[in-house]
Amino acid sequence: MSYSLVLNSGSSSIKFQLVDPASHAQDEPFASGLVEQIGEDSGRVTLKHQGDKHVVEAPIPDHSVGLKLAFDLMREHGCGIEDVDISAVGHRVVHGGLVFSQPVILTDEVISMVRDLIPLAPLHNPANIDGIEVAQSLLPDIPHVGVFDTGFFHSLPPAAALYAINNEVAGEYGVRRYGFHGTSHEYVSQHVPALLDKPADVVNQITLHLGNGASCAAIRGGLAIDTSMGLTPLAGLVMGTRSGDIDPGIVFHLARQANMSIDEIDELLNRKSGVKGIAGVNDFRVLRERIEEGDDDAWLAYNIYIHQLRRYIGSYMVALGRVDAITFTAGVGENDKFVRADALENLEWFGIKIDPERNELPNDGPREISADDSQVKVFVVPTNEELAIARYADQLAKNS
Ligand code: AMP
Repeated sequence: MSYSLVLNSGSSSIKFQLVDPASHAQDEPFASGLVEQIGEDSGRVTLKHQGDKHVVEAPIPDHSVGLKLAFDLMREHGCGIEDVDISAVGHRVVHGGLVFSQPVILTDEVISMVRDLIPLAPLHNPANIDGIEVAQSLLPDIPHVGVFDTGFFHSLPPAAALYAINNEVAGEYGVRRYGFHGTSHEYVSQHVPALLDKPADVVNQITLHLGNGASCAAIRGGLAIDTSMGLTPLAGLVMGTRSGDIDPGIVFHLARQANMSIDEIDELLNRKSGVKGIAGVNDFRVLRERIEEGDDDAWLAYNIYIHQLRRYIGSYMVALGRVDAITFTAGVGENDKFVRADALENLEWFGIKIDPERNELPNDGPREISADDSQVKVFVVPTNEELAIARYADQLAKNS
């Protein structure tokens, strides 16, 4: 059996998984783990393998030390990279700009193109490149593949992709909607035609990726025609700590009236807003407890979240004209029955009706939660971005 090593490198963390690309979505990966607090005084590597969890704590000055520590820990616990057959390394890359619509083998030329895209993703792409270079130096004989979060949204038509701002400025600075979470929207949407028993090219659908980050997509015949995230992952739905769509005038107002710097506003909107900014917590399990305890801020945050979500669902129904399915995924979408019920409440007139009992079923694989007489089918499909990346990496490696 051969595995793909899947790496998701952030500025201070590396998530890793050893995945059998032929496994099913619900299967546990062969091994998985997290390197965290890179660059801080103390760091930690966690490994999960065969139901056991192993942790090592040590200072981790950079990604190279972090990945080496992860490999050491894997070796120590019977899942060393030398002990298994690794066919490919798949890297999540956040921004592929207008260049990358498909996963690609990471040659020096490709990496240099990813580097050219840093101005579009100054926080994400440098960390992704660090992870790629470190992994290539540790595993030089295995193909490395980049899978781009933006790739699936290359099909957006100009009316959805372009903003109504001065086109010279937009052109010069790459200001347009790129969309993110593409690997998840694509993976989840690909399950839907089979659930509907229809050919993929006739299915119109809306996918709702509701995790700590959240986005939605309108998809016609397998091609995305709209999505809620934009130039950056700050746009669209209300998220755990991100505001989602706001009046851009708020930025000028805060700069002028509150004397806040661009970096402070960036921090405010990305990390101190969203559900957390209103309720003080961003985990929906805690938010629900607070709502049940009668916390007004928790209730308000939840209502703003749901209101925005319904706005997007409504607008995508109009954009698509006819909708066959709406699918929930990611941490909140897969697990929070309240969010699902409230997002689609009172939409019978639009042909949408959730079955309350089906909606209560535990998160256990792809399932329908709509009533039998609902014209629009509603599904929950657990996402698995790592498996999707593992499959792409394995496929490209085999064809290379
Ligand atoms: P993700 O970004 O997809 O990993 O989603 C993470 C978020 O999912 C967490 O911050 C929680 O808000 C939410 N979540 C996870 N499990 C549950 C659950 N059982 N009920 C409600 N929300 C959950």
